[in-house]
Amino acid sequence: MVSSTASSEPNSGAIVSVEDLQKTYRSGWLGRGQVQALRGVSLRAERGQVFGLLGPNGAGKTTLIKVLLGVIGSSGGRASLFGLAAGSATARRRVGYLPESLRIDRHHTARTALRYYGRLSGLDGAAIRSRSDRLLDLVGLAGRDRESVRRFSKGMLQRLGLAQALMHDPDLLVLDEPTDGLDPVGRSEVRGVIERLRDDGKTIFLNSHILHEVELVCTHLAIMASGRVLATGPLAALRAGQLDENAESANGRKIIETEFSLPADVPAGAFLRQALGEGECEPTGPIYLADPPIRTLRHGDESADHRAEITGVNQADIDRLVDAIRAAGGSLMAMTPQRVTLEDTFMRLVQQASTARTS
Ligand code: ATP
Repeated sequence: MVSSTASSEPNSGAIVSVEDLQKTYRSGWLGRGQVQALRGVSLRAERGQVFGLLGPNGAGKTTLIKVLLGVIGSSGGRASLFGLAAGSATARRRVGYLPESLRIDRHHTARTALRYYGRLSGLDGAAIRSRSDRLLDLVGLAGRDRESVRRFSKGMLQRLGLAQALMHDPDLLVLDEPTDGLDPVGRSEVRGVIERLRDDGKTIFLNSHILHEVELVCTHLAIMASGRVLATGPLAALRAGQLDENAESANGRKIIETEFSLPADVPAGAFLRQALGEGECEPTGPIYLADPPIRTLRHGDESADHRAEITGVNQADIDRLVDAIRAAGGSLMAMTPQRVTLEDTFMRLVQQASTARTS
């Protein structure tokens, strides 16, 4: 199996460390226009993580990868790999890279292609042969290594691309949209290789706009939109909606569904907005209130029951809501945290970011 070389980076295991990174492109007529592709991006990927950058088109994912690889310079902030300046020759030697569309010359077989990339990495003949054997096996091309790559499917070419990126046994593998443009079979094959590398403890940094793919292979991720990181953390935490306290607009908040009664003359919508909007904290997302109330007023009964879904509350909000219901003479019947999927979290964050941008 593929091994990771032990390294001595000073940054307590941070393989990728990015702080307040900025990138502004010049564009338009005579370069007078500007595009702010990265607006203060901070994130950190540790050894052994499969770290995914997830974001819609134009989020800044490729720009970030280009800065990390030293293909382009940043306009501000810091980026380092293994504690070394991103883009430095020493850092680059320890990185394997699979670009979005790697072109392998059609005259190659898988084996001659790996020989070619091995030589580019400065490996000798014996090292090339033994690495090629291991990697062809890893990517499932061992029996097809002497066939022309002309006969390879896109999925096979992408798996060969993964093998070339691993030839010099890098400490970090950077993959740009590794499953983009592949059919379901190709996607699953490439995913299988990434999963094997993950299980071997390889550190992988990849970007994708395909949420499902990221969810299947990544251990950690950062959700990006419009050049910012909206949330970052372990996949399980993001899936559960427990977001990084430091991430913009996230703050470890939950979605709850609640059922409560109020005196019939108290309008529930205004009550909720007032109860939740008064304290230091308030929900970061919308309040959906069942309308009409779930139980309408009956003869001799002075109260009405309501159901509401409230997005982005923290414990202080919940405590305040409970107190307010009691103080208004109502009762709390149920309070249930909602199961949040990664898609919910992703859509909510991206929508909030786009609302903030346009308002
Ligand atoms: P995609 O998923 O579409 O590849 P992305 O998240 O990788 O998107 P980037 O390619 O990093 O996003 O682009 C971020 C922003 O920077 C976009 O608005 C894009 O148009 C702009 N941009 C990217 N490269 C350049 C460039 N060379 N010159 C000017 N603007 C650029």
